[in-house]
Amino acid sequence: MDSYPLLLTQEQTEQDDDCACPDKAFVLAFDYAATEVDNDCACPDRGWGVTPMETSDTAVATPFITTPHTHTQPLTAEHTLVYSPYAPGGPSVLNQAAYTRWQAFHHPQPLLPQEIDVELLEQALLQPSQAAFQPQHRTPQTLTAWLHVTNACNLDCPYCYVRKSSARMDKATGLNALKQIFFTAQTHGFKRVKLKYAGGEATLHFALIRRLHTAALEMAADHGLELREVVLSNGVRLRPEDADWLAAEGVKLMVSLDGVGETHDRQRPWRGGGATFHHVENTVDNVLLPRGIKPDITITITRLNAGGAAAAVRWALARDLPVSLNFYRQNILSASRRELDLEEQAIIQGMLAAYAEFEAVLPARPFLNGLLDRVQAEAHAHTCGVQHSYLVITHEGHLAQCQMHLNQSVSPAITGDLLPMVAAGPIQNLSVDEKEGCQACEFRYRCSGGCPLETFRATGRWDVQSPHCHIYKTLFPAALRLEGLRLLKVNNLLQGIPPSIHR
Ligand code: SF4
Ligand code: SF4
Repeated sequence: MDSYPLLLTQEQTEQDDDCACPDKAFVLAFDYAATEVDNDCACPDRGWGVTPMETSDTAVATPFITTPHTHTQPLTAEHTLVYSPYAPGGPSVLNQAAYTRWQAFHHPQPLLPQEIDVELLEQALLQPSQAAFQPQHRTPQTLTAWLHVTNACNLDCPYCYVRKSSARMDKATGLNALKQIFFTAQTHGFKRVKLKYAGGEATLHFALIRRLHTAALEMAADHGLELREVVLSNGVRLRPEDADWLAAEGVKLMVSLDGVGETHDRQRPWRGGGATFHHVENTVDNVLLPRGIKPDITITITRLNAGGAAAAVRWALARDLPVSLNFYRQNILSASRRELDLEEQAIIQGMLAAYAEFEAVLPARPFLNGLLDRVQAEAHAHTCGVQHSYLVITHEGHLAQCQMHLNQSVSPAITGDLLPMVAAGPIQNLSVDEKEGCQACEFRYRCSGGCPLETFRATGRWDVQSPHCHIYKTLFPAALRLEGLRLLKVNNLLQGIPPSIHR
């Protein structure tokens, strides 16, 4: 019997002195908690799993086959990336021996009592020849709430969906919202609450953020729930004392950056005009990094700045900051700005150039989740948490389904259990299994069919694939390749392979 090396997790290999061995069979992906990159959208639904496959003696006697729609791509002369639609986490990387063993299952055959077969099964790369994986939708663990603390902003970005005004959330409204958010979380068995302090420019109303944070800590303790918080900011004028507070309280920060220099300035000017890039750079370099705050950088990709995405990624990676590349979504306020519309070739070229920047650095920490809009490495069936695990509270205390629906609330009051109200709202966030054109896609449980609002805007339907499907299908293999190379690198398996070969 052939002997196959062990499956490695990232955590194992970081402590493993002999991981330079070129015979490692698998390099397994990471877990979600390590890879969360905040952006200005809803967190996707993690309530998903597949029926666990038995590895008992009975199951071992069953013929198994390779799982249909598994994505494969060569990485190096020695390694191949494989990714089952049903894999619980990111892709796996197989060496030649393991890949050959997996390919043997193109012809049905029983599992052998050896580690490699168990590992192939655990990665959902094999399934019984007479049965298919059964996706199971479970209760998500995190209830995310967008708190729109102010309508005011000091910038005037052409793609913004907020009708600006000086209006802002008052303390009573915020505290009542928190009360109902925690009540809703407990009612539905969530394990944690995540608060996104947003606007407008949320830092213009920092006193309220501090007050709500204190109350949220108390409520989380009272309800026995975990609490995560992030402030979404344009980063132009974050005060040092507020940065001190973020660091002391462990509240995360997300900063928007749409390019370097003029590229950013064109897309994120001051209200009334004027450059802002150097203000953001000053905030990051002189206010945040010296305090040990590493903000998540979110880049909104439009046709206007796609060519500058690479420079923005280079800027962020030079500072070792997590990056999220997100696609512009047309809204009622930006509909006349046709120069922002996603043009496929421009977007694809710009994104590939940005990926080249990742490849040049290959950060050790997982970065796949920020590489392609709402696409996520971990299996999930819904693109975002809308209707299931996401609440938007407007500054007036109304309840909405999505931050892009601030003016189309589903309830004028925040009372009682909030989830049934967002579940009954007009946005239909369907499972990817219900979307025409997606059912046989090998990326369906990573892409989930794209933003439902964007699909409805473009097609008038909720139950079809994203209008940006071609972009996703073109770019996701390139993004996966980066993850494969990263896994090889952290396992010391890229040593001696010149970049020109793995590029
Ligand atoms: S939108 Fe396209 S890439 Fe995404 S799941 Fe559907 S078919 Fe696949
Ligand atoms: S509907 Fe679209 S814009 Fe709204 S939270 Fe979901 S993915 Fe984001």
